[in-house]
Amino acid sequence: MSTSKLLMIPGPIEFHPKVIEALGKPTLSHTDPAFIESFGNALYLMRQVWLEPTGQPFVVAGSGTLAMDMAACNLIEAGDKALVVSSGYFGQRYADILKRYGAEVTILEAELGEVVTPEEVDAALSKDNYKVMTFTHVDTSTAVLMDAQAMGFLGHKHNVLTILDGVCSVAGEEIRQSEWGLDVVITASQKAIGVPPGLALMVASQRAIKAWNSRKTPVGNYYCDWSNWWPIMQAYENGNPSYFGTPPVNLIQALEVSLELMLEEGMNARFERHRKLAAEFRKAMTDMGLKIIPKSEAIAANTLTAPYYPEGINGGEFIGKVNQEGVVIAGGLLGAIRNQYFRVGHMGIVSQEDIDTTVKAIKVALGK
Ligand code: PMP
Repeated sequence: MSTSKLLMIPGPIEFHPKVIEALGKPTLSHTDPAFIESFGNALYLMRQVWLEPTGQPFVVAGSGTLAMDMAACNLIEAGDKALVVSSGYFGQRYADILKRYGAEVTILEAELGEVVTPEEVDAALSKDNYKVMTFTHVDTSTAVLMDAQAMGFLGHKHNVLTILDGVCSVAGEEIRQSEWGLDVVITASQKAIGVPPGLALMVASQRAIKAWNSRKTPVGNYYCDWSNWWPIMQAYENGNPSYFGTPPVNLIQALEVSLELMLEEGMNARFERHRKLAAEFRKAMTDMGLKIIPKSEAIAANTLTAPYYPEGINGGEFIGKVNQEGVVIAGGLLGAIRNQYFRVGHMGIVSQEDIDTTVKAIKVALGK
C-alpha cells in the first residue's frame, strides 16, 4: 500500500492493491478495445452492485458533488418543488444545488444526532406537490443513517422522484435500489466504492429516465446533461467507442477491478461485514466512555463513526497523537460542533485488523 499510515477517514480510504495496480498501468486510448471492454463491463457490474438490474448507470469524471449536481439538473425544471430531507451538512448542499436550477426547495432538518422520521416525511409529502425528494443516506458530518427503504416507499406512494445521496453509503450500507424503488442513487469513487477520488457515479431508474425524457425545457447544465452522456454509456456498453468528454481511462479501469472484487465477496456479505465491524467499533468507543453523535444504534451508520471528544481533550492534539500511532482519522465537519468530535471511516476493504489497530491507536492517544 502506498501510505505507511492506515487511512481511516471517511474517504478517501485504503484501496485494494489490485485497484492501485489498475491505476498505475500505461494509459490506453479511450477507443482501445481493451478499454471499451472495461468501461462496458464496469457499467454492467454497477447494476449488480446497486441492485438495479434495469437502471441506467452513468460514470463521469468528477467528485460526489458533481454526481449530486447531475441528478438534480436532469430532473429539475424551474418552478419544480423539491423536498430535501437532511441529517447534517450535506442536506444544505443539496438544497443549494436544487435552487440553482430554479427549484422551490423545502428542507426538513433533523435534530442533531436524529433523523427526520418516515412519518414526518410522509406528512410533508402529503402537504405539497413535490416532484423530487433528496435525502442523505449517511450524512458524513454526523454519521447518522436514514431508512432508505422507507424513503423509496414514500417516493412511490406520493409519486415523487427520490434521489439518494449515497456518497458515504453506496457499496457499504445495504441499498436495494430496484426493490426499494429509489430513482437515482448517486455516489463517488473515493469511499466504499474503493477507487481513488475522481469519479462521479450514479444509477438512474427507468422512472427517472422517463421523467427526464418528459422535460419541457433543456437541462440547465451543459456538462451534466444526460443527453450528452446517455449515448456514451450506451455505446461503451454495446462495445463501441464514443466521445463526449475524455473519460478518465485509468480510474474507470480501476473501478472495474473494484466492482469485480465487491461482487466476488457478494453484496450481502459485504453489507454484513460493514454492519459487524461498525457495531464493534461503536462498542469499543462507548466502552472507552466516548459518546457518539447518532442517538440510537438503529440510526448509526456502518460506514463511519462520529464520537465526541471526552471533556478536557484538545481535538487537534488528540488527532495528532492518533496519527503518531500510525492511524489517520478526521476532525469534525458540522459547523457548530466541529471542534467537539472526530470521525473515523470504516468502509470498503476495511478489515477486523484495521478496526483493532484503530481502536488501539485511539486508546493509546487518549491515555496520553
Ligand atoms: N454527500 C456526502 C454524504 C458526502 O459525504 C460527500 C463528501 N464527503 C459529498 C456528498 C460530496 O462529495 P465530494 O466531496 O466527492 O464532492
